[in-house]
Amino acid sequence: MAPSRTAEVIGAGLAGLTAATALAQRGWSVRLHERDTEIRAIGAGIYVWGNGLATLEALGLYGQAAIGAHVGPVLETRDHRDRTVEEIPINGPGQARVLTIMRDHLIATLVGGAEKAGVEIVTGSEAVEATPDGRVLLRSGDTLRADVVLAADGVNSRIRRHYDVIAHRSVMRQGATRLTVPRSPDFVPAEDQGKYIEYFSGRRRVLYTPSSETSLYVALVADEDDRAASRIPVDVASWIRSFPHLSTLLSACADAPARWDTFQFHTLTRWSMGRLAFLGDAAHPQPPYLGQGGGCAMMSALGLADALCSSDASVEQRLRDWEYAERPTVEHTQRWSYRLGQLNYLPDSARSSLLRGSRFLASLGASRMRAARTIPTGADRFDGSAPTIR
Ligand SMILES: Cc1cc2nc3c(=O)[nH]c(=O)nc-3n(C[C@H](O)[C@H](O)[C@H](O)COP(=O)(O)OP(=O)(O)OC[C@H]3O[C@@H](n4cnc5c(N)ncnc54)[C@H](O)[C@@H]3O)c2cc1C
Repeated sequence: MAPSRTAEVIGAGLAGLTAATALAQRGWSVRLHERDTEIRAIGAGIYVWGNGLATLEALGLYGQAAIGAHVGPVLETRDHRDRTVEEIPINGPGQARVLTIMRDHLIATLVGGAEKAGVEIVTGSEAVEATPDGRVLLRSGDTLRADVVLAADGVNSRIRRHYDVIAHRSVMRQGATRLTVPRSPDFVPAEDQGKYIEYFSGRRRVLYTPSSETSLYVALVADEDDRAASRIPVDVASWIRSFPHLSTLLSACADAPARWDTFQFHTLTRWSMGRLAFLGDAAHPQPPYLGQGGGCAMMSALGLADALCSSDASVEQRLRDWEYAERPTVEHTQRWSYRLGQLNYLPDSARSSLLRGSRFLASLGASRMRAARTIPTGADRFDGSAPTIR
């Protein structure tokens, strides 16, 4: 029997866990290194669109991930007067699918899947460098060798810093405070409670996201230099001035543990060099206006595993084939998520008119759904379509 191929994966986020599991399921011997002493979810809830759901299905993890998740009927955008300016029906027949899941549940599901597939997970193991000939240098001083090395070490990738691969970087002035509060019928009118709603006011947004039967994920989006808006703990009075109609909800955010992140956006000249590939946010981060950074990371990680197993070409060539297949959809999604962020800079009335304009909405709708409706490479032979909501 031929010896199994080996992979060293750096970073146990959505990208690293997906790639490690998919490779192990295909017979590879995989070791996954996580810098922290435990694998933790960063953030509160997460939108997982059709591409991410199909990836979970392909890994055999959709059923577990969907336990307790929220299935919203519509995604709404509201203007500064709480009027609906955009409405995207979801999760019905022929419509895009999206679940909202608590992040810790999603990560725990992926860790369970990795362990079941035989991935060796090493926590407290920080990689300091990786090379195109397939070597990983650890902080411990050890050097490891593998057929392929995957750097899935996040947006500020330490591994990437050794290489001049940034093609384009946009300075993002926006970010978000993320937190979770218990759901309450007092936050929004009864008919809105199960919906996903994004509220605009000036340069601020509030994202209302039921993420389980009991938990509500709230994102407060603002400019980084809007000191009151980015303050932690949340400056409730300042947020209520922008969104008086959400005062009960915003008051509930006062004591919740919260985290601020400034958004980032860059593209790389190439995603791989020799036997080393960059994956997930290390390769293609995006501001979260489409809720697709994680979906693209998972989709592309599955595609990578599939590419590495689908031909007799060299590892180097298969990594190039993978990039060629994945890059158009991922970069399209990156561009549209960036463009949607520019809506923050329009005056309220101009933004409302634009969002109401049917031509803009038509192109926006088609563009924002492209990744969501993509069937990931590697998922087709498992199912062939986005999974059914059970
Ligand atoms: C406010 C906000 C909201 C978002 N909402 C959504 C959403 O609704 N839907 C969606 O799909 N996406 C969303 N995203 C994007 C999504 O969170 C990311 O795209 C995704 O988490 C990236 O996963 P990753 O595995 O590439 O990186 P990360 O999640 O950053 O994981 C990297 C891992 O590598 C580890 N690591 C780092 N350096 C090393 C090292 N040297 N050695 C070993 N380990 C290392 C880290 O500890 C970490 O565990 C959002 C992002 C933000 C900021």
